[in-house]
Amino acid sequence: MNQRTILPNVDDRETGPFFAAAAEGRLVYRGCLDCGRGLQPPTAHCPHCGGWNTDWKTASGAGWLYSWTTVVRRAPMAVHVSLAR
Ligand SMILES: [Zn+2]
Repeated sequence: MNQRTILPNVDDRETGPFFAAAAEGRLVYRGCLDCGRGLQPPTAHCPHCGGWNTDWKTASGAGWLYSWTTVVRRAPMAVHVSLAR
């Protein structure tokens, strides 16, 4: 079976730093430098305090798992082709 691998876009301004760090084995998240809250989705604007002083932070590795999803079917091949670089 010929299976294609879709690589994340590490050049994307919004999500690139996440995937670049993941490739190095690090888990990072975007956080607000003013109020200290994590930002999900990773935006440049903090919806909690209204600040624009945000940056990527390395996660400590501690946390709570609230939920997860297991995908048992892959997307149709047409989707894979449209996302391939
Ligand atoms: Zn904030």
